[in-house]
Amino acid sequence: MRETPNWPDPAAHIARHAPDTAMLYFSPAALQATAQRFQAGFDGLVTYAVKANAGEEVLTNLVAAGIRAFDVASPREMYAVRAVCPDAVLHYNNPVRSVEEVTVARALGVASASVDCWRELDKLSVLPKGTEIAVRLALPVAGAAYDFGEKFGLGPDRAAQLLQEVAARGFVPAITFHPGTQCADPSAWGAYIAEAAEVARMAGVRIARLNVGGGFASHRAGQAPDLEAIFTHIRAEVDRHFPDHAPDLVCEPGRAMVADAFTLGTRVKALRDTGAVFLNDGIYGGLTEARDIGAPGRIRVLAPDGMPRTGKDQPRIVFGPTCDSIDRLPDPLPLPSDLAEGDYVLFDGMGAYSRSLTTRFNGYGLGDPVTVADLG
Ligand SMILES: *Cc1c(COP(=O)(O)O)cnc(C)c1O
Repeated sequence: MRETPNWPDPAAHIARHAPDTAMLYFSPAALQATAQRFQAGFDGLVTYAVKANAGEEVLTNLVAAGIRAFDVASPREMYAVRAVCPDAVLHYNNPVRSVEEVTVARALGVASASVDCWRELDKLSVLPKGTEIAVRLALPVAGAAYDFGEKFGLGPDRAAQLLQEVAARGFVPAITFHPGTQCADPSAWGAYIAEAAEVARMAGVRIARLNVGGGFASHRAGQAPDLEAIFTHIRAEVDRHFPDHAPDLVCEPGRAMVADAFTLGTRVKALRDTGAVFLNDGIYGGLTEARDIGAPGRIRVLAPDGMPRTGKDQPRIVFGPTCDSIDRLPDPLPLPSDLAEGDYVLFDGMGAYSRSLTTRFNGYGLGDPVTVADLG
């Protein structure tokens, strides 16, 4: 089911079409390779966190690569997954839900749901006994771009009480956590795994599974994350902290699965005498995350004929295309001295939280993704 690549690489598409709309270049081969790397290296069930990029070609290619389980947060995400994979396993891991949403989840037969509050567990009581319910654990954690524990999750004592209640109500007890997005520090998983074991011990409950969340990424910094080192560390810590009955493992990468399969292509609309650059995409488009976690680190510049610009990098202020003055990247970007109007600025590793967060503000936004054999 892999889509036929239309273009060898972004440079070929640019040289032929001179696109004037910002867009994402998508490499199905890169996405499938990452999915295979997770499945080969992670000793447990690999699920994909749909919110990172819910594009149909993403879901289709993940299914083609063997992914069958998905972390979904809303009915719409559930329907999107089932549309491309009717027998997909759904893990409903948004711990806050309306009664109506739970009704949809039940009708679609979610296999697992997370919970971090007694009242939310009450809402899940309509799910069949035998459904897995995972208590979401939160710890103060350093090493991630921002801390997911600020919004969701329980400290160890309350997590243990809720875990007992999950088991008492006849659900399959599990524990889940998320070390934080952009987390690539293996020790963050170690701290959580140790605490999860302690919570299960305090509760006197043998957990069926432990979901070690997403993270797995440091794409902002530019270097590829060492996934295998994280997988090895997770396995070792689980064996150490659950010596007699290691739970089965689940992971739910979003960013790390999809980021490197896409390159964001933007065009220089204008250069100012000050050196400031106006691009045709900014914080209301594919660069939304820059405001919260900093500008992306892997940048290439191509002339309209597709050849790389080679001038020495200079820091430049970069504005997006809209009329709003906050549409500006937080830090200057290193851009070549021979940068010219009409050039293309390519941001690699931009498949996650780009298209899914893009708005149409001021009539801008991203065009349809262009499929390429290789991102170049
Ligand atoms: C967002 C989210 C993920 C994916 O996070 P990444 O940092 O993109 O890997 C996984 N699990 C849950 C519950 C999430 O909310």
